[in-house]
Amino acid sequence: MTAPRVEIDLGKIRVNARSLVRRLGVRGITVTGVTKGVCGHPDVARAMLDGGVVGLVDARIRNIVRMRMAGILCPISMIRAPMIGEMEDVIRYCDASYNSEMETIRKLGAAARKQGATQDVILMVEMGDMREGVMPEDLDDFAARVVETPGVTLKGIAANFGCMGNLTPTTSDMATLSRLADQVEGACGPFVAVVSGGGSANLAWALDKGPSGRVNNLRLGEAILLGIDPATGRAIDGLHTDAFAFFAEVIETRHKPAATGARDGQRPRSILAVGWQDTDANGLGFPHGVRFIGATSDHTVVDTSGFTAPVGSEMRIGLSYSALMRAMSAPDVAKAVVGKQSVDRVISNRAATPFLTVV
Ligand SMILES: *Cc1c(COP(=O)(O)O)cnc(C)c1O
Repeated sequence: MTAPRVEIDLGKIRVNARSLVRRLGVRGITVTGVTKGVCGHPDVARAMLDGGVVGLVDARIRNIVRMRMAGILCPISMIRAPMIGEMEDVIRYCDASYNSEMETIRKLGAAARKQGATQDVILMVEMGDMREGVMPEDLDDFAARVVETPGVTLKGIAANFGCMGNLTPTTSDMATLSRLADQVEGACGPFVAVVSGGGSANLAWALDKGPSGRVNNLRLGEAILLGIDPATGRAIDGLHTDAFAFFAEVIETRHKPAATGARDGQRPRSILAVGWQDTDANGLGFPHGVRFIGATSDHTVVDTSGFTAPVGSEMRIGLSYSALMRAMSAPDVAKAVVGKQSVDRVISNRAATPFLTVV
C-alpha cells in the first residue's frame, strides 16, 4: 500500500459514537458529530451517523459540501461563523449555523430569503474560552435582534470550552447556560430548542450524575474519533483509541552521532518520509523503542535504538487530534478505510427488520 497513509477503522468509530450516544442519551443529551478532524471524510461521517449522532457539524464549508456531494442528507451545520463570501453556500448546504455577529446574521437572513429559504441560527455564548461568542450579559438583547431579523430563525444557544483556553466547564457554568436559555425565552419569546453545552472537553460534566438542566446537546469530535477526553488527555472508558493509524515509510536507517561532530555514543537513527507538510509531527505517537528527534517539511527523524526499522519498511504511528486533522487534509497522505458497511447490506438489514425504525 502507498505511504504515507492514514488507516481508518470505521467499526471502531461506530462503536465510539454508539457508546457516547447511549451514555449521554440517558442524561437527555443528544450528540452531534464533529467532522472537522477528518476534513469531512464521508465514510467517517456515515460511521458517526450509524452510531446514532443526530446530525453533523464542520468548521469549513468545503468539508460540508464534500459530505453533501457524497449523498449525506442528515442535518449539517456550520460550526464556525460564516464568512461574508460563503453565505450562499452556507444557506444551500447547511441546515443551521453557529453565529456571534449581528452583521453576519443579517446577511445570512438576506441570502436565505434570496434562495427562498430560512436559516436556523445557534448563538454562541462566550463563557471563558475567549474565542467566539456573545457576552452573556448582552445575550438577551442580541437574541431579540436575531428574532426580528427576516430570513433567520433562532434555534438555540451554545457554549464552547477547552478550545483556546484550557478551561473545563464547571457545574456552575452549565447551570448558567441553562439559565441563559430560560432568560432568552423570557426576553424574546421563542423556545430555545437547542442548548449545546460544548465539545469533548465537557464530557466529564455531561457523564456525571448531577442535573443536566437544559443542556440537551454536545458536539463531539475528538471523543468519537480518538476516544480521548481532551480535558485530561486520557482515554475515555470503553472507547477505542486506535480507530486511526498513520503509516510512514523508513527511507534511511544508520548509526549517527547523538550530536553534530560528537565522536562517541553513536545511535541508530531512522528517517521517515513524512514531515510538517503531512501532519503535526509533535502529535505523533511512535511505537515502543522509537523516540522522536525532530522533523522538517518532508522528513521526520527518530531514534530507533529499541526498534528494527529497515529501509522500505513501514512504521505504524498513533495520531493526536491535531496530527489527525492535518494528515486527513494533506493531499499526499492516502486515506484507507476498513469496515465500510455496504449500502446493500444496510438496505437488506432494513428490509429484514420491518418493525425497527432505523434513524
Ligand atoms: C471543534 C469544535 C468542537 C468539537 O470539539 P472536540 O474537542 O473535537 O469535541 C465543538 N464546538 C466547536 C465550536 C468547535 O470548534
